[in-house]
Amino acid sequence: MRVGFVGLGAMGMHMARNLHRAGLLTAVWNRTPEKARTLAGELNVQAPATLEALGASVDAVVTCVSADSDVLEVVSELAKSLKSGAIVLDSSTVSAETARKAADILHPRSVEFLDCPVSGGTEGARDATLAIMVGGSEQAFERAGPILAAMGKTVTYFGPTGSGQAAKATNQIMCAGIIEAVSEAMAFARAQGLPLDKIVDTLGKGAGSSWYFVHRAPNMVRGAYPAGFRVRLHEKDLTICRDMAARFGVALPVVERMLDEYAELVARGYGDEDISATFRLKSELFEK
Ligand code: NDP
Repeated sequence: MRVGFVGLGAMGMHMARNLHRAGLLTAVWNRTPEKARTLAGELNVQAPATLEALGASVDAVVTCVSADSDVLEVVSELAKSLKSGAIVLDSSTVSAETARKAADILHPRSVEFLDCPVSGGTEGARDATLAIMVGGSEQAFERAGPILAAMGKTVTYFGPTGSGQAAKATNQIMCAGIIEAVSEAMAFARAQGLPLDKIVDTLGKGAGSSWYFVHRAPNMVRGAYPAGFRVRLHEKDLTICRDMAARFGVALPVVERMLDEYAELVARGYGDEDISATFRLKSELFEK
């Protein structure tokens, strides 16, 4: 199978490399073309000038772009040239509705669409240990097996198109609560005068630990929040969760609180920092 990759950002760059390691990657494309040219040169794969040209040259495309409108834009361009029987695997985090729209764009050309959002951070992308949540036809899921296995460790089929994104939205609600708890606890520990590196080492082995505590509390110790998972991106995800819950007439307290905090961080110019930057706000609680 010849696989193309679109969207060489913090996640996509690693995922494309893992597809290359598995012997599957044949072409890459990025909106800012320099990134694609550099990676293509290094891996000895193609860097077509347009999405249409990439679509014509592959049997499957993995996309990892930012938000809903970006996915629809990219899929519409790819739809012009993908061959019948090709598969698009979108690993961006977007709404279930956008996944269904993307599938509808590709359906007339007999191109399959799988929503395959991922979890595990840039480390998971680098180490090919991502958890991947898949929605779409079971038959496309079977065919895409080697591609998914090259990028992730836990790959789960959830059901029809949009189910992967619904599973991912569930994950994003958990991440909101956890990053808030981690940053609040770390601000508390600092106010107690505790040695924060020892807190991370010790509590990282305790019952209150989590991926976010182990991997992102060190950012709080250093006072540096390199992306990572940008505040703006999680804000986008939580807006999706808010809309999905609103269809049941529900406002989720954890989601609403984090959206308020992210709005504050973005207003202060921290939108492109990692979400562990919530520590900035929690620290201020102790400075009043
Ligand atoms: P980045 O901001 O690092 O990269 C975004 C990529 O998408 C870039 O390659 C960018 O191109 C491209 N892009 C954005 N808009 C368009 C568009 N309209 N057309 C074409 N290309 C576009 O994001 P991440 O890699 O961090 O995240 C990508 C997706 O994965 C997001 O949906 C995010 O929510 C999700 N995700 C992120 C995780 C993380 O820890 N970072 C974890 C799990 C999921 P350019 O280089 O030109 O800007």
